[in-house]
Amino acid sequence: MAGLPPGMSKQEAAMHVDAYMEYRNLVGDTDGGAPLPEREYEELRRKAAKAKQNELFVFFRNSKGLDCRAAGPSSRCFCTHRYRDHAWFEVDTKRVKCRMAGCPCKCYQLIPVQGSQDIKCRQCRHSFEDHKADPKLMKACGKPNCRCSCFTAVWSCSCGETWEDHQTVFETEIPGQPYRIRARGALQGLFHRLRAVQYRGGSKEEGLLGEHLSEVLLGRLEGGGSRPGMLM
Ligand SMILES: [Zn+2]
Ligand SMILES: [Zn+2]
Ligand SMILES: [Zn+2]
Ligand SMILES: [Zn+2]
Ligand SMILES: [Zn+2]
Repeated sequence: MAGLPPGMSKQEAAMHVDAYMEYRNLVGDTDGGAPLPEREYEELRRKAAKAKQNELFVFFRNSKGLDCRAAGPSSRCFCTHRYRDHAWFEVDTKRVKCRMAGCPCKCYQLIPVQGSQDIKCRQCRHSFEDHKADPKLMKACGKPNCRCSCFTAVWSCSCGETWEDHQTVFETEIPGQPYRIRARGALQGLFHRLRAVQYRGGSKEEGLLGEHLSEVLLGRLEGGGSRPGMLM
């Protein structure tokens, strides 16, 4: 390691790197470039450690109570930000609001897109991203001169229902659930582990590949799952 500050050992430097990685892992892009105050960060660390014991699982549930999808760290929210940018550690309150600076989103709501995909509005044909995430504004479109007062998605689920028919729900319990839900829980765990690998010094490509792999597996699960033995 070149260019250590005077008096700092390699071990000390490694500790700093670890602390930095942990900070990035927990805070992500949500601090807007200004480090969190120490007390706030310690509170966040405490909640995150607790959340590791008793994790929130996020499901996209249709009107018949079937869980069609599960959210992973990179899954998008109606507010455009990712699940990891939300308060995923609020296990007790389940108030999973967005942590990105200035975002009015009060609770994570899954938008089933991957990568650069988009979902357009049935009323105005603008992207979901153009619509307001502030719950007081009822998902009105923010494009100049657009009079759309509520986003409805041009999208239908493999279950045949619309985006609006589904709810994003937060669960802490997985045991005793049918196979598909347990499998989703397991895959979500995989997401978390792959992300951890990336932050512990794996390359960005490895991290992305891992996330892609999990997305593919989740996609498989949506598509059929007639051979449960394959996944578990
Ligand atoms: Zn959000
Ligand atoms: Zn947001
Ligand atoms: Zn619209
Ligand atoms: Zn519009
Ligand atoms: Zn569905």
